[in-house]
Amino acid sequence: MKEALAIIHRALGDDAGLVLVGGGVRDLLLARPSADWDLASSLLPEEVMARAKARGLRVIPTGLQHGTVTVMVGAKGFEITTFRGDEIYEDGRRPVSLSLGVALEEDLARRDFTINAMALPASAVDREDWAASVVDPFGGRRDLELGVIRAVGDPLLRFAEDGLRCLRACRFSAQLGFDIEPATLDAIPRRLDVAGKVSVERVFTELTKLLCGDEPGKGLAALASTGLLGLWLPELLPMIGCRQNNHHLYPVWEHSLEVVRRTPADHGLRWAGLLHDSGKPARRSEDAKGHYHFYGHEADSEAIAQDILTRLRASNALVKDVVSIVRHHGTHPGPTWGDPACRRFLKRLQEDGLALERWAAFRLADNSGKGFGEERCLAEHQEVLARLQAMAPSPLHIKALAVDGRALMALAGRKGGPWLGELQAHLLEQVMDDPSLNHESALRAAAKAWLEGH
Ligand code: ATP
Ligand code: MG
Repeated sequence: MKEALAIIHRALGDDAGLVLVGGGVRDLLLARPSADWDLASSLLPEEVMARAKARGLRVIPTGLQHGTVTVMVGAKGFEITTFRGDEIYEDGRRPVSLSLGVALEEDLARRDFTINAMALPASAVDREDWAASVVDPFGGRRDLELGVIRAVGDPLLRFAEDGLRCLRACRFSAQLGFDIEPATLDAIPRRLDVAGKVSVERVFTELTKLLCGDEPGKGLAALASTGLLGLWLPELLPMIGCRQNNHHLYPVWEHSLEVVRRTPADHGLRWAGLLHDSGKPARRSEDAKGHYHFYGHEADSEAIAQDILTRLRASNALVKDVVSIVRHHGTHPGPTWGDPACRRFLKRLQEDGLALERWAAFRLADNSGKGFGEERCLAEHQEVLARLQAMAPSPLHIKALAVDGRALMALAGRKGGPWLGELQAHLLEQVMDDPSLNHESALRAAAKAWLEGH
């Protein structure tokens, strides 16, 4: 990205005041990879476009009204925004007017957190001592060292301008493992009304980033303590303080945070980690010995997951993925299970489009997140996974039967109809009990026997 920045810098000229700004500077200082680099310049957008085009660069006017154009260097686009100051916020979401062509410091002052309010002149990016050139009017570097998320200016005012910032604070806390500075944290519960105006699409995007962070538990704890959890995910509140015993060291909420942290950082697995036990509080019963049980909670968790993700307008693919992980999370094919039962379980996973390895990764996170014996969990996981993997190639679907539908119709001397599906399901059942039956003569014999009675 440094080479591309140098190309843009040469195209715009030294008087453009081109800087890398926001998250890109933060990530450079943290030596953390950045997905993209946002740039800013004192030039007005029309001038950026004219100069970039004159040097043969392709330019897309992505957001002229916000002062933003995208300059392409090869296949990669860089957003360049004219230094701007936000003026009036009316709806708690976006400024109704903004001024272009302000000083860099003013542009930095409208940014959300000190660690996101730094700039690095493009001319310095290649220098060995680049860090000495960072423009940092609000103590962003100090806060990076302290590991805190601190609003630029008065957090109450800043969160009144834009409610999304409340959620972003929690998201960065999860991504960077930072604490939210006390005054910034205290301001969030007082601005829930503004946070409530954020569109569900943005809430979903931010929550997903939060869940996929390195320390999701930190971000989730901040959501819970500030009231944001109740605002967007009220179904999860009963999980807090819902005690468990027997197989669990932690209450439902703490356990769920452990599971989220332990799953691979994949959208479906992380959301499932958060939601998989959401049905437990309503299903808790206590036996004569004072032990809690949560019979049938998977189905309730599934319904809650479906409701929440649909409300947040998650893609159908993600909803389906999370729901299927939740549905199967409680199944534990242990040593007492026979091979046919294991194969039927593999069939159910396949029907739900859930890969065995993802189910197993979730199960490992779920088990080790109960607070007992990591090593034992890992050993058991490997054993269960190896056993199921060895069975995975066995026929689990009627398409895998050694005799196809056409051959069965010929054998029966009948045209296709519901009987055919029934016969195939019957044959598959036999083959799942004993995969060695999946060859032509055995299946023909089994089909004949079935046809006699149907
Ligand atoms: P990442 O791209 O890793 O999610 P980022 O810090 O780059 O993190 P973006 O959403 O890409 O975040 O925003 C780029 C920059 O714009 C931020 O670093 C921040 O300076 C500013 N910014 C973004 N959203 C807001 C907001 N709601 N209020 C104020 N400033 C914001
Ligand atoms: Mg960014």
